[in-house]
Amino acid sequence: QQKLMPKDVEALVEEIYGKAGRSMAHFLSCGDDDFSFAVGSLARFRVNTYRQRGSLASVIRIVHFEIPDWRDMGIPESVIRLADLKSGMVLVTGTAGSGKSTIVKYLMENEDLNLHFSISATSREPRGTEKNGVEYFFMTPDEFKSHIDAGDFIEYEEVYKDKFYGTLKSQVDSQLKAGENVIFDVDVKGAMSIKQMYGNRALSLFIQPPSIEELRSRLEGRGTDSQEVIEQRLAKAEFELSFAEKFDEVVVNDNLEIAEVEAESLIEDFLNE
Ligand code: ADP
Ligand code: 5GP
Repeated sequence: QQKLMPKDVEALVEEIYGKAGRSMAHFLSCGDDDFSFAVGSLARFRVNTYRQRGSLASVIRIVHFEIPDWRDMGIPESVIRLADLKSGMVLVTGTAGSGKSTIVKYLMENEDLNLHFSISATSREPRGTEKNGVEYFFMTPDEFKSHIDAGDFIEYEEVYKDKFYGTLKSQVDSQLKAGENVIFDVDVKGAMSIKQMYGNRALSLFIQPPSIEELRSRLEGRGTDSQEVIEQRLAKAEFELSFAEKFDEVVVNDNLEIAEVEAESLIEDFLNE
């Protein structure tokens, strides 16, 4: 992620806000609550971090939210280039129960990585405490089909029988435009499609369980799926494991802390390239 000196960031805000006829005070008054409400509860936003960390991405998130057409206001090219961060994409894939969502959650707590979750659409039912617009956009099979027909997905897969999952183009585009690094939790085929589309802009991580037996015991231990669903997922897992070497990196999730730190440092290296 590009780091700027606080004074550069301040100058950038003044330039854009001045052109829009607003003041710096107005910018500073954009409260946490308004913004979190606007972008969903997964967004962790601190209006003042830009001062301490010179994080251009957090500034751009506010500016973009408040003044969506700021790029067309006669801002000098050099300033726009400064703001158009090369945002990266991190694809986390692997079999069901390999630990993808646990690891993604850990990675998103590291604010320096500026990772924001790509919320997929799915036609499966919410489970446990899942909420619409947080873990997924939950859709009926008909709604999902109409998005397919409209060409709204970058990719979609029938990951399990009659259960569709897909990445919405609009979602990813707006995240990348806002300078966020986007993290995906997608199945093996979906990760391969996205990687093929975005090439070096995306890092693909395959999370590998130590063994199928361990996978079974984790899925049973998670307690969120019926025995039938677990059998379905295990049957698929052996097939998916054979794709491991197609990805940029394989992270073996035996000891969770080690796997988390390994994934974190791979992502740091990728984003700093
Ligand atoms: P996925 O998102 O890949 O389906 P989860 O992150 O939900 O997998 O993990 C499946 C279950 O295994 C969860 O209950 C999680 O707490 C547990 N788990 C994840 N990693 C480990 C690990 N290294 N050791 C033991 N249990 C783990
Ligand atoms: P779950 O039902 O456990 O949330 O997810 C099942 C599988 O669907 C996981 O392997 C998950 O990575 C995958 N998945 C989630 N969202 C997407 C998506 O947008 N596209 C694809 N191809 N797979 C997805």
